[in-house]
Amino acid sequence: MKLLLWDIDGTLLSTGGAGMRALESAVAAEFNLPRHIDLGQIDWAGRTDGWIAELICDRIGVPHTPENTDRLLSAYVALLPSHLEETTEVLPGVREILEAAHQHPDVQQGLLTGNMEVGARTKLGYFDLWDYFPFGAFADDSSQRNDLGPHALRRAIAHTGHTFEPANVWIIGDTPHDIACGKVIGAKTMAVSTGHHTTDQLASHKPDALVRDLANSAKFWQIIG
Ligand SMILES: [Mg+2]
Repeated sequence: MKLLLWDIDGTLLSTGGAGMRALESAVAAEFNLPRHIDLGQIDWAGRTDGWIAELICDRIGVPHTPENTDRLLSAYVALLPSHLEETTEVLPGVREILEAAHQHPDVQQGLLTGNMEVGARTKLGYFDLWDYFPFGAFADDSSQRNDLGPHALRRAIAHTGHTFEPANVWIIGDTPHDIACGKVIGAKTMAVSTGHHTTDQLASHKPDALVRDLANSAKFWQIIG
């Protein structure tokens, strides 16, 4: 039995900056700052929502207390749907691979994402992809991405009744953070360069597999084995 654990942003979806615009709107709504405060310099890729909220609080000069980060993230989730409409799309090949994995008797799949569960459901539900993921690990579990693997594995076991050898677990994501959190649990890692990192940048973090995108489903399944 194989287990696929999927990242969302830059891997399944190209959000076209929808998350950042929703966060900018949330900052403006909650902290009485100018609408177009520049959050562009923050390095979000692969980080959890909780971690990002702390970075934003630092950036705008607000203490990153649990109250402030909760306030920011609640506003973000409420504003996210309207921003998703503008620019977000499912990346090439993703829908086909998710459906094939769903049909495959020896494959289980879940999420391992820095999104909060409600944000993940909002993004994937918008494209009717949420039901492919009966379990997952989210930013709600920890603000540190490297902590998320064990949560995902525990839920996979609880949901499927199977235990998974590390060699049969694949973490699929678009950033060095995804590769690192896969290595922490001894899983295989597949990096896809459909996010903000080039294949060369990802290669330097030594994933087990590296693909340009997921458009070639035959190659994907060849790698998974
Ligand atoms: Mg990502």
